[in-house]
Amino acid sequence: MGKLTDAEIVKILSDLISIKSVNDHEIEVCYYLKDLLAAHGITSKIIQLSETRANLVAEIGEDGPVLGISGHMDVVSEGDALKWRYDPYVMTEVDGKLYGRGTADMKSGLAALVISMIHIHEAGTLTYGRIRLLATAGEEIVGEGAKAFHQQGYMDDVCALVIAEPSEDRIIYAHKGSMDIRVTSKGKAAHSSMPHLGFNAIKPLIQFVYNLDEGFKDFTQTNRLLGPPIMNATIFKGGNQVNSLPEYAETEFNIRTIPEHDNSQFISYFKRILHKIESPDTQITIDTYMSRPPVFTTGNNSLVKMAQTFGKQYLNTQVEAQASPGVTDAADLLVDKDEHFPFIMFGPGNVSQAHQVDEHVDKSTYLSFVKLFSEMFPTYLQNLK
Ligand SMILES: [Zn+2]
Repeated sequence: MGKLTDAEIVKILSDLISIKSVNDHEIEVCYYLKDLLAAHGITSKIIQLSETRANLVAEIGEDGPVLGISGHMDVVSEGDALKWRYDPYVMTEVDGKLYGRGTADMKSGLAALVISMIHIHEAGTLTYGRIRLLATAGEEIVGEGAKAFHQQGYMDDVCALVIAEPSEDRIIYAHKGSMDIRVTSKGKAAHSSMPHLGFNAIKPLIQFVYNLDEGFKDFTQTNRLLGPPIMNATIFKGGNQVNSLPEYAETEFNIRTIPEHDNSQFISYFKRILHKIESPDTQITIDTYMSRPPVFTTGNNSLVKMAQTFGKQYLNTQVEAQASPGVTDAADLLVDKDEHFPFIMFGPGNVSQAHQVDEHVDKSTYLSFVKLFSEMFPTYLQNLK
């Protein structure tokens, strides 16, 4: 079949944008990619997580070390569609830019990975090692796709990982973890003139938040790449009538973790605070509904260096390597790997475009990444020989 043309490469992205995989329905993306890969002689497997959600895995190469290449298939909601200049699900090209939900985050990166795999396969340039595509579901919420890949052993023999999240201007090799925790308090409703007949759900929750904030001062360690941990109460609500004692209140926290103050520390910290403020009347529950660990690698490896070399060649810029505050699927894919593991986040699009109205990617950058990946992946593996 030969190499895909630029027009075909753009059409593939356009097809992917038209699939509304908004925090769900990744299985539709799987079907599309499976057919595309099959048309070029690459078999793939859909691993269902639910009726509408699935991961996709495909591999080329016979044996030897495995390079993992990964992208997520979900996108975030378009928000207020009226604010968009163009239909978010009809990819529109204007002045060399491709507009649409997911053009940057990260269907262009995903497409570039898949197409590079096709080009490598068709050109027969993979002479050593294997390339395994790990297309994930649910990256934008809790990372269930990446968690499933890890649990099912797909990462066990992977020796290096590229995630093509929008990061055309810098190569990321470390990032913080993230947690979302909901704390709910139950009380007993009563008329506010007779509070002894009820229990105010807000009261212990205020104490909880206050004590939690005070104690956070003791989280004094700072990671040399990632900086300090961050914790914020971002939601607080309770009560619905001014002359009634509220029977329910809740607060939510987002926490950004580092290896020195990791996710498990925060889980036990929340328990300690609960213990401190508990009384016979309090009914507080803690629900950690999202937890993705930090990723710490040193970046001191040939994958980072090679990405910089090829970045210079194909993107015509000196791409710096650095740590980032954002979270990727690496959080769950790399849980068993150590700091020497070669990991990069590098892909078309700018992170400032992610989740925005009028999200877009430069067409030329997207096409350049197809070429960059097509050359870099087999070269990286060959150099391991
Ligand atoms: Zn993303």
